[in-house]
Amino acid sequence: MTTSSKTAVSIDAARVELLLNELRLPGVKAIWPQLAAQSDKEGWPAARFLAALAEHEAADRQRRRTERHMAEARLPAAKTLATFDFESVPMVSKAQVMALAAGDVWLDSGANLLLFGPPGTGKSHLSSAIGVALIETGWRVLFQRTTDLVQRLQVARRELALESAIAKLDRYDLLILDDITYVTKDQAETSALFELIAARYERRSMLITANQPFGEWGKIFPDQAMTLAAVDRLVHHATILEMNVESYRRKAALERKRGRGRPPAHVTPKKIEEDTD
Ligand code: ADP
Ligand code: MG
Repeated sequence: MTTSSKTAVSIDAARVELLLNELRLPGVKAIWPQLAAQSDKEGWPAARFLAALAEHEAADRQRRRTERHMAEARLPAAKTLATFDFESVPMVSKAQVMALAAGDVWLDSGANLLLFGPPGTGKSHLSSAIGVALIETGWRVLFQRTTDLVQRLQVARRELALESAIAKLDRYDLLILDDITYVTKDQAETSALFELIAARYERRSMLITANQPFGEWGKIFPDQAMTLAAVDRLVHHATILEMNVESYRRKAALERKRGRGRPPAHVTPKKIEEDTD
């Protein structure tokens, strides 16, 4: 290369850097010198160089998008499918959960997923794990303790902004409402929760966990008619997973005690009870 063509290349390089700043393409800016060098060395056609650059940018955007969606989802940390022991809930099919974790049909059609079971049986863990898997495949998810969300909606209602608060939640393909039965009638008096359920019905999916079967849901909603209407909408298109097993926490605590060489007979039911929740 002559001195003047070298100078032209470095002027081009400087212009590219400036333009990439202006176009806000930091990913391209970081990778292009390396790709350009390889392209020059191996004599790539221009289209091949451009394709490699575009592919890199697309993958980078995808990664950043997933990171953003993971952060906004507020999922409990470290609860994934990889750390979920399916053997401790034999009535839950791993294949079915894996299919749900891919999203697709049920999220596209706004169907719901309901997880029932006593405390400590892995409902929050499994819902979070499904959330993580869905985000990794490109869906948007929000995990909320139901009481927190109801509180937020009620603040919105007082500010005459309930409708827009509910509409904002539309951006999430899946809304995970953890522990719906912890909501008390007092809290839900103004029926914000019902309005949310009605608004998402057949459009946007919800994953709801509950310690209590439907029979006890009368405590959540202001009256019987609203309870029935809410349950009706939730179950119309829903997969229900019953996790009626012993508390995982309790089992783990028992195993730890056994591990310390303490005979199980020393663990009184009272003591075990204290280990849950
Ligand atoms: P729930 O929401 O049903 O009350 P959690 O999901 O909070 O129960 O589970 C209680 C604890 O036990 C958590 O630390 C969770 O990670 C763990 N756990 C529960 N079930 C399982 C399981 N099947 N495999 C692995 N860990 C589990
Ligand atoms: Mg829970």
